[in-house]
Amino acid sequence: MKIYRFLENGAHHIGVAENDRIWRYSGSSIFDLGTIEDARPIPIAEAELLPPVSPSKIVCIGRNYADHAKELGNEAPSEPIIFLKPPSAVLPPGGTIVRPAISQRVDHEAELAIVIGREAKHIDANDWRDFVFGFTCANDVTARDLQKKDVQFTRGKGFDTFAPLGPCVATQLDPSDLRVTARVNGDVRQDGRTSQMIFPCGALLAFISSVMTLLPGDVVLTGTPAGVGPLASGDVVEIEIEGIGVLRNAVA
Ligand code: ZN
Repeated sequence: MKIYRFLENGAHHIGVAENDRIWRYSGSSIFDLGTIEDARPIPIAEAELLPPVSPSKIVCIGRNYADHAKELGNEAPSEPIIFLKPPSAVLPPGGTIVRPAISQRVDHEAELAIVIGREAKHIDANDWRDFVFGFTCANDVTARDLQKKDVQFTRGKGFDTFAPLGPCVATQLDPSDLRVTARVNGDVRQDGRTSQMIFPCGALLAFISSVMTLLPGDVVLTGTPAGVGPLASGDVVEIEIEGIGVLRNAVA
């Protein structure tokens, strides 16, 4: 099932996609869909999409693909590297990424995002799927120069609009071997598979939940494959993940 959130006449709606249309549901949350509301589905292409989820926190994983660690001159890590992006950075599909004036280098990072469905603390890596609601596409937009300059990642990763999420949450998906691509103005820049992750989803959730309680709607960005690169004014960046869809954003 692919669950969307969208705006119509100023009101928030939840819907489920079938083919290229969204069918409205009566519920107020992606976790409680309610019942199907009408027989007048709207084309996805015409919907004003909202971020599919409103996380209380966004947990990100650094260097989870060996090729990407290497391209930035880093060793592959022996345990997951975690950092946070603020929820204020979330950007809907179709929203505009704003490059801060203080940065000369803002990069795209295509990532599979896990959407948590149940409160989770000390998850066993074998039971991780019970705590997951679904998956979406994320762009871990990064001010690379500030990330390198600062001791930690909060500034380089935390600007408003630096967490595009969407277009939907796909609930029945095996995330173990999905193609993850990033395109800029139609040119493929990143093209990896989730099977290349150093730490797969279960290991990541076990590690993160041994540190902090994950809440329904929280999002975990699982790291990016090789090919990260800069975004320029006027670019259109697309993150596509097999089984989920395309997350498209313009750059101001
Ligand atoms: Zn990242």
